[in-house]
Amino acid sequence: MSDSLLIIEDNEQNMYLMHFLLEKKGFSVIEADNGREGIEKALRFKPGAILLDIQLPEMDGYAVARELKEHPELSGVPIIAVTSYAMVGDRERILAAGATGYIEKPINPDTFVEEIIRYLSTHNRSNQEGYA
Ligand code: MN
Repeated sequence: MSDSLLIIEDNEQNMYLMHFLLEKKGFSVIEADNGREGIEKALRFKPGAILLDIQLPEMDGYAVARELKEHPELSGVPIIAVTSYAMVGDRERILAAGATGYIEKPINPDTFVEEIIRYLSTHNRSNQEGYA
């Protein structure tokens, strides 16, 4: 685990914006523009969390989330889906695939990093309760 965040996103503008906002708040950011590269980098760098786009070429975010969850060494790494899919069913589906949270596009620069930090603190708190 580390304080770096891995972003898996194929849209350059979204990637740029998320990277910029997170780096400004002191996170170090690792980029991957497709699912396969994202899984490889997750295994190599063991990021503190993974931000996962759903609409990706070849391998979509659902498949990426499921494959990430198959690796025991990544079981403690929260996956936050970042997607423009707003349907309730899609939200349930990505949570069922292994995501712990969900942020909707378009990214709001005023609240994005706060939302990420809130997910991370909730995740860490529930992990600690698990050990109690
Ligand atoms: Mn996309």
